[in-house]
Amino acid sequence: EPQLSIRQLSKRFKTGDGVSDITLDVQPGEMVTLLGPSGCGKTTVLRSIGGFLEPDSGDILIRGQSVLKLPPEKRPTAMVFQSYNLWPHMTVYDNLAFGLHIRKHKKAHIQRAVTDALELVQLAPAARKYPSELSGGQQQRVALARALLLEPDVLLLDEPFSALDAKLRMEMREELRDIQMRTGMTMVFVTHDQEEALSISDRIVVMHAGQIEQLSTPQDIYDRPSSLFVASFIGRINLLPAVSDGTRIRLQSLELEPQPGQALLPGACTIAVRPEDVYLTDEQHSLAGTIRQVMVLGHYAEVSVVCDEQIIKMFVPREQAVHLLNGQAIRIGLRKFTAFPEQTA
Ligand code: ADP
Ligand code: MG
Repeated sequence: EPQLSIRQLSKRFKTGDGVSDITLDVQPGEMVTLLGPSGCGKTTVLRSIGGFLEPDSGDILIRGQSVLKLPPEKRPTAMVFQSYNLWPHMTVYDNLAFGLHIRKHKKAHIQRAVTDALELVQLAPAARKYPSELSGGQQQRVALARALLLEPDVLLLDEPFSALDAKLRMEMREELRDIQMRTGMTMVFVTHDQEEALSISDRIVVMHAGQIEQLSTPQDIYDRPSSLFVASFIGRINLLPAVSDGTRIRLQSLELEPQPGQALLPGACTIAVRPEDVYLTDEQHSLAGTIRQVMVLGHYAEVSVVCDEQIIKMFVPREQAVHLLNGQAIRIGLRKFTAFPEQTA
């Protein structure tokens, strides 16, 4: 039985924005990420699960029981926000103990639960400090510990690391995934950062304009995007105009076979190819182009090639890139690509 089941959830605000027909099962111990651009409805779904927002229709079940009629504090969920929402006049310890006091837990239990939670987020030495004495990352760890010690059936995290700098964000992401694996807690994580989503999720729900665009594993979403929207939102990608006759695709001078499982209607289409799937070649079955720019980015370089007035970006290992010159004529091949019947704007 799924830990969390969202069934045909819809919510429309007076402005006309909202989410529609969201259906999603999350299995026990799974980390599922809602990913999409700002305004696509991620927070609306999360707030509905937590009970902070009443949906217009649909149902939300946790371990088989509908929670729609329960107020937030009665739901078996806990939420972590981008802002830490700690009590400034309480120590770290008291911030954590507070929720358990309210729930009338025994003192011995509270002490053990708080100590365990602080250890889980590696903040045991900070128990007697006040939030203002902690860094942003440490404060967010306290907020995470506070949610964890409630032992919710589902932990909800709404862009919890967005306020942190890039390096810390990466550390926190690893730490959260580690905690999630160790505790086996079921989590629904919200982010607009595709790299964050790709790195920590068991499955990703890509959302677009209030609806689910694709729901699959990170690998599948990266390798087999189901739409042009997903292809262009996740990772770096070249989008190239092409034409299909129904069986083959013409991209500039090149005739391409559609990849297995990609049927195409005759007409204009778009080829999506990732920079790591473009390679230098001297085969005849390739595109002729001119190097426009070589940007070395550490162990690899990003090379812009102009082919028939289109810029195509490719990643090249550093040792190969040092031999490339601006203006040089080269040929490139495509290792794999996805063809979409839609056209880019
Ligand atoms: P996200 O979290 O993906 O950025 P939200 O779920 O916050 O998106 O919002 C989805 C859409 O609903 C947005 O267009 C937003 O402006 C709108 N919206 C969210 N909350 C409200 C509200 N309380 N009243 C009116 N519109 C809202
Ligand atoms: Mg949001």
